[in-house]
Amino acid sequence: MRPSLRTLQALERRTTRSKSIAFIGLGRMGAEMAYNLFSKKFTEVPDSHFVVCDALPESAMSFRQNFLSQFPGAHLEIVQTPEQAVHASQTVVTMLPSSPQVKSVYTESGGIIPALQSYDSEASARTLLIDSTTLDVEVARQVAGDVVRAGAQIVDAPVSGGVAGAKAGTLSFLVGGTESAFNFSQPLLAYMGKRIIHCGPSGAGLGAKICNNLVLGVQQIVVGEAMLLGQKLGLEPAVLAGVINSSTGGCWASSVNNPVPLSLPEKSPPCERDYEGGFATSLMLKDMFLATDIADSKNSPLPLGQTARDFYAEVIQRDPALAKKDFSSVYRHLQRMGQDNEKGTAGALE
Ligand code: NAD
Repeated sequence: MRPSLRTLQALERRTTRSKSIAFIGLGRMGAEMAYNLFSKKFTEVPDSHFVVCDALPESAMSFRQNFLSQFPGAHLEIVQTPEQAVHASQTVVTMLPSSPQVKSVYTESGGIIPALQSYDSEASARTLLIDSTTLDVEVARQVAGDVVRAGAQIVDAPVSGGVAGAKAGTLSFLVGGTESAFNFSQPLLAYMGKRIIHCGPSGAGLGAKICNNLVLGVQQIVVGEAMLLGQKLGLEPAVLAGVINSSTGGCWASSVNNPVPLSLPEKSPPCERDYEGGFATSLMLKDMFLATDIADSKNSPLPLGQTARDFYAEVIQRDPALAKKDFSSVYRHLQRMGQDNEKGTAGALE
């Protein structure tokens, strides 16, 4: 049931819209980002108000419980819909899985844009939306166009740096939007990240993010291939990772997200927690589709990108349990392929 206007107005009074920041989407990244944003803002301005919203009520409740246990005096409210979040807060950050969720949260009934349309132009102009989701560039541009037509400001601000960067507050934000929206968003992004790069107009942050993840998606597979081959050649994982990371093959996929346990003695990548946490394989597959779809529409060839996309799809199809695990778990799939090959060879010899 949709909340009445009276309920929404009561919410606005309680949360004092101009002092309030809302965060929608408290998943692996969002929960860490919201924690940094709220805790740093609260330390600077103790009468700030905070609002959270997630499709899974338990995610919002556990975030609230955790935050208030660390900051008992803080004002933190859970709302049920994005519309309520906008009525409660002048600044709203969204961190959602992809395009369908962004469309739903922004444009559908009970969403952000219908709420903005109920404000006068002055109140709308003070509203800032920051969407950190990695999604389709065209969808993001359409949503941003609707937000601007409703009188508010918006930036696309996808991130790089993973869950570890979100937790440490060291993310890189790749921002697309007008100069004015970028300047408006920068102080808030600085609570959650270290590098804030204005990439260009609306959609430019996403373009940069999609190209970056195209590189990452390919690299994570080839690091898995090299780490598996090296062990078959008798190399210890830590020795091999040490060589790659101090040589020309070094990259984030090998030096931070290495897929082989104990290969990085001073780090604790997702492979050491059964590939839990981190960046889900299903989200990497989504990003590879974002890259190959936009490349098709621009006639930009991606021979490696397409092969990597098909490989992630095969991993999830053959081993659905890996869909939610960190994408470095493609290594586990490579191991199984190797075992199947060995059985096949042994069978042929019998
Ligand atoms: P996630 O699936 O862990 O979190 C998404 C959250 O959004 C969940 O809590 C979900 O319940 C919530 N949600 C979904 N639909 C909703 C709706 N309609 N209303 C409110 N909440 C809703 O995903 P994540 O790993 O946090 O990634 C979020 C985004 O960040 C993705 O676009 C991803 O590609 C990108 N990203 C992730 C990483 C990473 O390492 N995990 C790194 C960089 C970028």
